[in-house]
Formats: sequence, structure tokens, C-alpha cells
Amino acid sequence: MKIKTKLTLGVGILFILIVLLSVIGSVYINRLKTDTEKILTANYNSLEFSQNMLLALDKIKTDSAIAVKDFRKNTILQEKNLTEFGEKEATQNLNLHFESYLKSPDTEKEKHIREDLVRIMSINMKGIERKSDIAILTAENATFWIVSLGTVCFLIAFILLFNLPQTIAEPINQLTFSIRQIANKNYNERVHFKGSAEFNDLANSFNIMAEKLEEYESSNLSKQLMDKKRIETLVNNMHDAVIGLDENHFIYMINDEALKITNLNKEEIIGKTVHEVAVNNDLIRELLKNIDHPSKDSLKIAADNKENYFEQEIVPINIVKTGEKEKKYIGKVILLRNITPFKELDFAKTNFIATISHELKTPIAAIKMGVQLMENEKFGALNEQQKELLKSINEDGQRLLDITGELLNLSQVESGNIKLKIESCLPKDLLQASVKNVEKLAEQKNISITTSYILDDNDAVLADFDKTVWVLNNFLSNAIKHSFQDENITVTVEKISSFIQFSITDTGSGIDEKYHRQIFDRYFQVPGEHQNGTGLGLAISKNFIEKQNGEIGVKSAVNQGSTFYFMLPLAES
Ligand code: ADP
Repeated sequence: MKIKTKLTLGVGILFILIVLLSVIGSVYINRLKTDTEKILTANYNSLEFSQNMLLALDKIKTDSAIAVKDFRKNTILQEKNLTEFGEKEATQNLNLHFESYLKSPDTEKEKHIREDLVRIMSINMKGIERKSDIAILTAENATFWIVSLGTVCFLIAFILLFNLPQTIAEPINQLTFSIRQIANKNYNERVHFKGSAEFNDLANSFNIMAEKLEEYESSNLSKQLMDKKRIETLVNNMHDAVIGLDENHFIYMINDEALKITNLNKEEIIGKTVHEVAVNNDLIRELLKNIDHPSKDSLKIAADNKENYFEQEIVPINIVKTGEKEKKYIGKVILLRNITPFKELDFAKTNFIATISHELKTPIAAIKMGVQLMENEKFGALNEQQKELLKSINEDGQRLLDITGELLNLSQVESGNIKLKIESCLPKDLLQASVKNVEKLAEQKNISITTSYILDDNDAVLADFDKTVWVLNNFLSNAIKHSFQDENITVTVEKISSFIQFSITDTGSGIDEKYHRQIFDRYFQVPGEHQNGTGLGLAISKNFIEKQNGEIGVKSAVNQGSTFYFMLPLAES
């Protein structure tokens, strides 16, 4: 049954019963009032009249006129108040006997009058008795109905009092508990109410909602699982090695490529810190060394029976959590980018350059030799035009030879085939050899070269003589190339702690600061400058110096000249 119906029915019945109770109560009270009134008017008055008549009869011998008048007055009143069966006859007899007594008074007639009066009184007394019985019966009926209705009202109120709060509170409590369960993501919670139709509807709606939430949650979960699987598969199929670390350096993810190159087993590393794994794994140890400052050099790792090259990158992971504003560090990803295909192409290119430059060198040298023979006029005299032509052929040949030389050097550096002969060299010797090489070039632009030494005479560097002279040559020829006519180039050699630094300063065009990093890259030339050159000189120089455990650099600004410098370790004397 519906709670509403239950409430309407309970309160409604109670209301009707209360109304009924009041109606019955008032009806019976009214009836009792009528009964008492009836006794009063019909019987009590007759008794009073009779008593007055008896008193008048007693006084009739002494005060006849007044007594008769009294008697008659009461007789008239009695005649008007005939209510009981037999009262009329008794009153008529009384009148007859009184009239006859007045005509001839005697004791016998007086006795008859008194008997009539007693009779009237007894009839009325009986009437009172009967009516009182009726009033008692009415009171009893009233009591019965009032008590019965009162009991029914009490029972209904009692049932409502104990049943209704329970019926309403119990499902509400159960529902509150279930809502809390749902809030705690316990979506398999269901409610079952018995009885009331409203609560049954509520339970059904709640259960549908919980079911939908459960469905949504599981579909969301499966979607997330699917997405996770997809990403895992994606990461696993990458050719790059990926290792995920949390903020405490615990490994939480590692892809197949990373497992392959580290020779590790997934089960034995997941959940361990990278430091624990590094104890027994050289590669991880190597990666850990560079975790804060990844090295720019590629890592050579043997896997699948061949050499693979990887570039290390560390990606810190920072997230902004829901409801927060600050970014929070939650770990990092070690990325080993597989650059083997590029390296292989690079090797092929280096080999190609090496072969070509090597193959070109001999015919160019032969051309130069032929030109020299002709210049020496071994095969006859030359006119001015022919001499000019031969001069330019010779210069072009030299340039070609320089280029092939640079290319050969580059290929040697790149392929690692470079052989260094590190020995103790005096800076003065190195400088003399290189200045001699560029003298002619400097003369052409009337450029002077000033050298200054800020070191002891016997201070020497640990260097490969030829390669260092090559670097100095390159610096000097660049300085001459970029200087204006009639300028000066300063070469400073100074001792800086355990190094000797060579600086070549020119007052030429200078280099914009944004190109300083790229200037030592292969084939790089400052944009906008149209010069002959390969863009290889500084790249080779950098390689030569670094291979000799030195450092190379530049200080320059546009229109303020440039200073190219390198440092090499001081030889122990
Ligand atoms: P290149 O064969 O072109 O000279 P380099 O590697 O020796 O190759 O030089 C790279 C580029 O650096 C040059 O093209 C030039 O633009 C710039 N450069 C080198 N030295 C100087 C210098 N002293 N002054 C201004 N620019 C220079």
C-alpha cells in the first residue's frame, strides 16, 4: 500500500471517528437532558401538585376558603400535566371525590381523595422510576459507544504511532547508507524495500542509477585498460628505448627495446630502483651517470649482433593535479633514441667522401705538377696570358687540393681512423710553422701578424704537431680572410693553470653571437657571406683539439672582430 494512502486512510479514519465520537457524545448528552427534563416536567410537577393538594386538604377544616382555592388551583395544574398511563382517570376520580366532599364532607370521602392523590403520586413515582431507567440505559449506551469509538481511535492512533515512523524512517536510513556506499564507489550496492509502493519506486530508481554507474565505471575502466594497452603496445613497438622512473627512481615502465639493449628481464626490474639495477648492469650504470646532464655523444650498444647507436634524452615529467595549481614532479623518462640508421648513412657518406677525396687527390696533384713544369718553362717559353692562365689553374688546383685535404681529414675524424702522435711541442715551433704557411696570403692583403707569448720559454704543450699546426693554419687563414686590407692579427699564447691557450684575434667583420654555437658544426657558414670555403675547417679543428684533450671556442661580435682560441694540456717539464 502507498504511504500516502496509508497516511490518508489512518488520519482520515481517525478524523471520522473523532467526529462520530463528538456526534454520539452530544446526541446522548442531549437525550439524557431530555429524559431528565421529562421527569422534571411530567412527573416531578405532578408530585408537587399532589403534595400541595394534600396540604390544602389538611388545612380545609381550619381555613376552608383558601384551602379549597389552593386545592382547585393545583387540580387545574394537574389536569394540564397528564403524562402517565392511568393518571387521567385518577385525576378525574380526584375531582369527583373532591366535589362530592365539598357538598357533604365526611371522613370516608376525604379518605377517597387522599387515596386518589396517593395513586397519582405513585403513578408519577413509577413514571420517574421508568424514565430514570431509560436515562440509565441511555447513559449506558452512550458509555458503550464512546468507549468503543475511543478504543478504535486509540488503536488506530497507536498503530499509526508505531508503524508509520518505522515505515518511513527505515527505508530512509537504508537509502542513506546505500547512497554513502555509492559515494565510496561501491557501485554494486542495491536497495530492496518491502511494502510501500513509493519506496519500491525509489528503490527501483536507485538500483537503476547504481547499475548505470556500475556500467559506466566498468566501461570507463575497460576503456582506460584498453588505452593503457594501446599505449604500452605503442611504446613497446618503438625503436627507441624507453625507461620510466618515478620520483623516487623506481622503474615503473620499460619497453622491449630497452629490455633488449640492457639484456634485462622485465620481471626482475619492475618495482626496483634504477640504482639497484645499475649494480649489475653496465649500461644502466652508464645512463645513471648522465641522468642529470645527459651526454651529447651517442652511445654505442651491441644488440642483435650489430652495433646500435643511441642518443640519450632525459624527459622530466611534471603534472598539475586536479584542483591544484602548482606543477608537481612525478618522475622522469629516460629515452634512448635509436639513431643507428642515421649513423649508418653517415658512415656511408664518410666512406664515400674518404674514397672520393682520396681518389681526387692524385689526379689533382698530377695536374699541379704538370702546371709547375709548364710554369718552369721546361717545354718552351710562355707569353703573359699563358702565365696568367697557368697561375689561376695553379690556384684552383691548390684550392681543390685543400678541399680534398679537408674532406679527407673530416672522414678520418668521423670514421675514428685518425691517428694522433701526441708529443711535447713548443708553442713557438707550432706558431712559426703555421705563420709560415699563411705568410703569402697575409701579404696579399698587407696584413701583419703579431705574436705575444705569456709563458716560460720551456713551457710546452702535449699535442700532435701536424694537426695543431693545421688548426692554427685554419684560424689564421680565416682571420686573414675576414680581415680588411692593412690590418693586424694578434696571436697570443698564454699559460692558464695546466693548459696553454692559443688565441688568434682579428679586427674583421666579426660573427653574430647567435651563430657561435653552430660555427663549429660541419658545413656551417655564417649566412649572407659569400666566400669560398667548405664550412668544414672549424668542425675539423674542434675535432682535432678535442681528440687531443683540449678545448676550443670563439669570442666575437658583429663589426668588432673575432678571437678564436683553443687550449691544450701543458706538458710536464
Ligand atoms: P670555411 O671553409 O667556410 O672558412 P670554417 O669552418 O673555417 O669554414 O668557417 C666557418 C664559417 O665561420 C665561415 O664561413 C665564416 O663565415 C665564419 N668564420 C670563421 N672564422 C671567422 C673569422 N675570423 N671572422 C669572421 N667569420 C669567421
